[in-house]
Amino acid sequence: MSGATWSTRPQRICVLGATGSVGVSTLDVISRHPDKYEVFALSGYSRLSDLGNLCERHRPRYAVVPDYESQERLQRRLVEVSLETTVLAGPDSLDFVASHQEVDTVVAAIVGSVGLSSTLAAVRAGKKILLANKEALVMSGALFMKAASESRAIIMPIDSEHNAIFQCMPPGYHDNLNAVGVRRIILTASGGPFRKVPSEMLRSVTADQACAHPTWSMGKKISVDSATLMNKGLEIIEACWLFNAPPQMVDVVIHPQSIVHSLVDYVDGSMLAHLGNPDMKVPISHALAWPQRVDSGVKALDLVNMARLEFEPPDEKRFPCLRLAREAAVAGGSAPIILNAANEAAVKAFLVGDMGFMQIPELIESVLNSLEGLSISTLESVMEIDASARREASHWLRRGRSVRH
Ligand code: NAD
Ligand code: MG
Repeated sequence: MSGATWSTRPQRICVLGATGSVGVSTLDVISRHPDKYEVFALSGYSRLSDLGNLCERHRPRYAVVPDYESQERLQRRLVEVSLETTVLAGPDSLDFVASHQEVDTVVAAIVGSVGLSSTLAAVRAGKKILLANKEALVMSGALFMKAASESRAIIMPIDSEHNAIFQCMPPGYHDNLNAVGVRRIILTASGGPFRKVPSEMLRSVTADQACAHPTWSMGKKISVDSATLMNKGLEIIEACWLFNAPPQMVDVVIHPQSIVHSLVDYVDGSMLAHLGNPDMKVPISHALAWPQRVDSGVKALDLVNMARLEFEPPDEKRFPCLRLAREAAVAGGSAPIILNAANEAAVKAFLVGDMGFMQIPELIESVLNSLEGLSISTLESVMEIDASARREASHWLRRGRSVRH
C-alpha cells in the first residue's frame, strides 16, 4: 500500500464498477466520511447516465466508460456542468486508473472475468485493494497472490463471508493456519431463493425468480450464482487463496437468516463468528477504515428481535454447482478457470432464456470434462484457458439448441 494512506489527507479511491451494487454501496460509505475518503476515479459499463450522476456527486479526476461514443457523450455532459473530470475509454483505461500513482485504494467491483486485468493492475502497483471481484481470484489465484506479495499490495476482502473470516482470524494466519490453531473455516450461505424448492420444480424456475434473493440485494450474475450455490463454490476457492487454506479446511453451512457471515473453528473448541445485518456497507466500511473503524450507516443488530438463527447442511444433489466447485478447488490448475468461464457463459444464457436453471451445472460439468487439466504459470495461459472454456460452452449451447428445434 502506498504510505500516503497513513497520512492525514483523505485516502484517494478508485471504484471499478461504480454503477453496480457494490460500487454504489461503496460510494454511500465514502460520502459519509469526506474527511477520510476522496474519489479519484469511477468506472461504469452500462447505465452511463448513472455514472454521470455519480461523477457530478463525487467529482472524480477520471471516469472510465467502455467505448469512444460513450466517452464523448459523458465528457460533453460533464463539461456542460463545468466538471473537470476526464473521461477515458476501454479496458486499458481501467488498468491505467487502477494503477495510477496518486491512487491509494482500489475497489475491485467489476463483475466477472472482465475485472481480472484491472484488479491485477492494482495488485501489481501495490495498492490497497478492496476485493469484491471474486472471479479474478478464482481464475488467477496463484499469480494474484504472488504479485501481491511482490508488490506488497494489501488485499482486503469485502465479500461479506471473507471479510467476516478476516475479522475472526488471529495474527500470523497467513503463514500457517495450523500453527495458529485454526481447524476449519466455515462459510455461511443463505441457501438462495430455491433452498426449499424440490428438484423437479428447479427445472422450470425463471431468471426473475433466481434473481429475487431472500436476504441480499445484488447484481444479476451473483444473484443467479447464489441461487445455484455456485457463489458459495467460488467462495470456497476465494477463501483458499485469501487464507492460505487447503479446500479440505473450508466447510459450508446453510444459514437462511444471513446474520452470521462466517466462522473460524479453532482446535481448542472455540468458534469465532462475525454477525451483522446483511448489508455490504458493513464489510466495505471495515475494509476501507481498517485497522480503524468508521460508521457505515448500518443499524446495529437487534438480537432479541432476531429471535433465532438456523443452520443446515447444503444439499449438493439439488445444487450440484457446489460439488463441481469443490472438485475444481481440489483439482487446482486450470480447473477453477474452466469452472468460472463455463459458469459465466451458463449464467448469461440462463438470464436471456436460452437454457433452464438445472442446465447450468450440466453445461459446467460437460465443459470441465471436455477440457484437459493443465498447470498455469502466466496470465496469457489463464486467458487462453478461459477462452477455450467459453468456446466449449458455446458448442454445448449450440448443440442444445439444435436438439430442441
Ligand atoms: P453489478 O452487476 O451490480 O455491477 C457490476 C459492475 O461491473 C457495474 O458497474 C458494471 O457497469 C461493471 N461491468 C459489467 N461488465 C463490465 C465490463 N465488460 N467491463 C467493465 N465493467 C463492467 O454486480 P455486483 O453485484 O456489484 O457485483 C460485483 C462483483 O462483486 C462481482 O464479482 C460479485 O461476485 C462481487 N460481490 C458482490 C456482492 C453484492 O452484494 N452485490 C457481494 C459480494 C461479492
Ligand atoms: Mg459472499
